[in-house]
Parts: sequence; C-alpha cells; structure tokens
Amino acid sequence: MFLTFYGAAREVTGSCTLVEVGDKRFLVDCGMFQGGHFNEVKNAEPFPFDPASLDAVFVTHAHLDHIGRLPLLVKQGFRGTIYATAPTIDLLELILEDAHAVMEYDHRKLGHPVLYEREDIAQVRGACRKVEYGTPVVIPAPDLSSPRKRGSRRGQAAVGISLLDSRLRGNDIKVVFHDVGHILGSAFIEIRANGKRVVFSGDIGNANAPIVRDTEPLPPELDALVCESTYGNRIHESGSLRQEIIEREVLAALRRGGVLMIPSFSLERTQELIYELNNLIDREHRLPVVPIFLDSPLAIGALKVYRQYHQYYDEEATRLFQGGDDLFQFPGLQLTATTEESKRINQVPAPKIIIAGAGMMNGGRIVHHALRYLSDPKSTLLIIGYQAAGTLGREILEGNSPVTVMGERVPVRCRVRAIGALSAHADQEKLLDWIGGGLATPKKVYLNHGEPPASEALAKRLTAELGIKATVVNHGLKVEV
Ligand SMILES: [Zn+2]
Repeated sequence: MFLTFYGAAREVTGSCTLVEVGDKRFLVDCGMFQGGHFNEVKNAEPFPFDPASLDAVFVTHAHLDHIGRLPLLVKQGFRGTIYATAPTIDLLELILEDAHAVMEYDHRKLGHPVLYEREDIAQVRGACRKVEYGTPVVIPAPDLSSPRKRGSRRGQAAVGISLLDSRLRGNDIKVVFHDVGHILGSAFIEIRANGKRVVFSGDIGNANAPIVRDTEPLPPELDALVCESTYGNRIHESGSLRQEIIEREVLAALRRGGVLMIPSFSLERTQELIYELNNLIDREHRLPVVPIFLDSPLAIGALKVYRQYHQYYDEEATRLFQGGDDLFQFPGLQLTATTEESKRINQVPAPKIIIAGAGMMNGGRIVHHALRYLSDPKSTLLIIGYQAAGTLGREILEGNSPVTVMGERVPVRCRVRAIGALSAHADQEKLLDWIGGGLATPKKVYLNHGEPPASEALAKRLTAELGIKATVVNHGLKVEV
C-alpha cells in the first residue's frame, strides 16, 4: 500500500491523501486550502493525479478543509463513489453550497475565480454512498501485479466496488469508519489491504465535547497511523469545565454592557455553543435571558441536520432529547437567516450576543460586526476555535491593532478573550492517550494537519514517551506501508 500526502502537509487545511493498492486508487478526503491568498491560489491548481483514475473517496467529515475540492474532482473526471456517514453527506452538501455562494460573492467583489458550479455539487451528492460506523465497505481484491496506468478508466463508473460482505475474499480491501467524536457523523477511517492495516484519523474530537460521542479507541496492530496534529503542542483547559468557562466569559462580557461577538465555525462549534447556552439559560438558569443572534445561514441549516440525526448523540444529549428538551432553542435565541434580519441586529440595544461565521473571521457576517464593534471598549470578542496563520482572527489574537476589516483600518479596543476548552480538536494529551492507548502502539505515525511547531512537538513526545517513529509529512511525500 502506498500513501501520498497531497494536502494538510505542514498546514491545517487542504486534507487529501492518495492511497494506492495494486490497481486500486482512493483518496481519503479532498479538502479546500483555506486562510490567506496563497492557499486560495493552490485550490485552483490541477490535481497532481488524474481524478478519473480514482475508484473512490472516503470522507472523514464534512468540514470544508476535508471536502471542499470534491466538486473540482468530479468536474475533472472523477466517476467513482464517495463514501461517508449519513450526517456527513447532508452536511457536506450545505457546506459546499455555502462555499459556492462565498466564491460567487468574492468573484463579484474581487474578481476571484469560482472554482466549480452548482451542477458539480449535485454530482458530488449523487456519487455519495452512506456508510455506517463499524460496517465495512468491501472492495474486491486489487490486481497487485500492475499499478493502473493513469486515466485508463476515464469516464467509467466505479466498476466492481460494492458493499456486499458475502463476496468478501481474503485479498479484498476492507474500509471501516469509526466514530472519532469531532463533529456529527465524523469518522476515523481504517483501511485493511494486502495484509496491512492503516488508520487515517481525520480530525480528532476534543475530550468531553457535548452532543458527539467519545472518540473510539484505535484498532490494534496498526502498520501505520496518519494522524492530525492541529494542537500537537497545546494543552486545553479541562473540557469538563467548559460550561463554567462559558458561563464566566458570557457573564463578564454582559457586565461590561457591550456586545459579545463570538466568531464561530458554523459546523459543530456553533451547535455545541447553542447546546451549552440552552443548558445555562433554559435548564439551569445560570445566565440571564438576553438577545442572542445566531447570524449564520449555514449554522442555521446545520442545526436542522443536528436535530434530524439524534441517533448520533452521546448519552447526555440523548437523555435530554428523550426528555423532550429542544436542545437548540431557548428564550432570547433568534435565528437571523436573511440579510435583512442580520442588518436589524444593529438596532437591538446592548447587551447582546452575536454568534456568526466565519470562525477565523476571514469572511462571513462576523466581519460586518467586527467593523462596528472591534473599536468599542465595552464590547468583547470571544475566540473559541483555531485561528490559522494569515486570518483576521489570528491577527487580533496575536494582539495586532489596528487591523484591516473590509478595507478599513480599525483599532482593536474591545476586550479580546480566547478559550481552548471549546475547541473541536483534541489537545496534545488526548492525542498521546489515543495513539498510545491501545494494546500495541502503531508501528509508524505520519503527522499531518498541523502547523510545523505543533506537529514537531507531538512527534518528539511520541518518540520520547511511546518509542514510536513519527514523521511530519511534506507535501507530495510518498511512503510504502
Ligand atoms: Zn474538522
């Protein structure tokens, strides 16, 4: 089995790994590069492989940096199957449509290219096949004698790929999705082929995250693990204190009498935050009722998917759901889907809370609110997620002032707070526990999806404490397992 890293190598976006077993070729994820102009240019570059030569794509979860180039893949000839869990399939459609709308907006305003059309998104949706956790996808044995010539199956459907367990033979390839507890429907993916067993972590959920279940343990006897390392050098505040931390931060912000702005990733982080606020305001009455605006059409759309797939909830959310609580609705919460509704937020007197995307403030409605309130000493900006290099969120987090917002220089006079407990990603301790927690540690670990200091710090600890050979991957690195 050969693995080639074509994204998220020494950076946190653009996840895309090519897997080759004999004449079979797959991708694990096909994500968009994000954050900064240079990264956006990379999305428009041709793939370093022929999309038509791929049999399948296995999708770990619906975040844009893991799925954003799927429409480009079909546009450039991919005719295979896209395997994902049911919530991932519904969410990825929302995410791709939102990304398309953002590209069209940027095209009108700035002349940036629109990388794909709505028809390509429809084709992605049509190529998706639902996978259950723990039920293997079985792909008939590869021809190990000859690696396929590139493009030899151009235009053909993914012949011979099936989910039929009855046809399982010794040399068949088995692909199993396991719950990784990152966002609803997220998975780490195990591929067994040619006597080898490899796991792709996707993004690993934070400990004690609400709604989603805990990360399943790693399968034993792994020949290789491809693992994310976003927070490979960071330790979060205890996840079990997350509700107390939210309570404290929200109260402190409200006492100042200004606006509390929370830039939030539309998927998962926002739903978790709404879930926690529902607990604090509606169930436990620990926070006062104030106007709270969920100012993100995408997050509002994703809320519907979260309501629909309650069978994916963890124990606590299931208990509350079965007790009749609407987990995502409480007094004060207003969903502002349209632009007109969004504009009316300005007229509502403070104190008020605005939750809006984009999570790294590199676009979306949060930018409009930032333009208005960053310079207000009474207001607060609460950062709850990862801020990639080159984004407005990162600039503010690093203490820069003034900053450029929609072409204007704005002094940062509001209070800026950042909390890690709400991160959707595992920290260094959880990564080490997960990688070293099985009966036997993986023979080899390839670290991707991290900025170099994070990946390198994790690699060092893996080697020093668990004796694992860990490599921080470079773009284009090809390894044999
Ligand atoms: Zn993710």
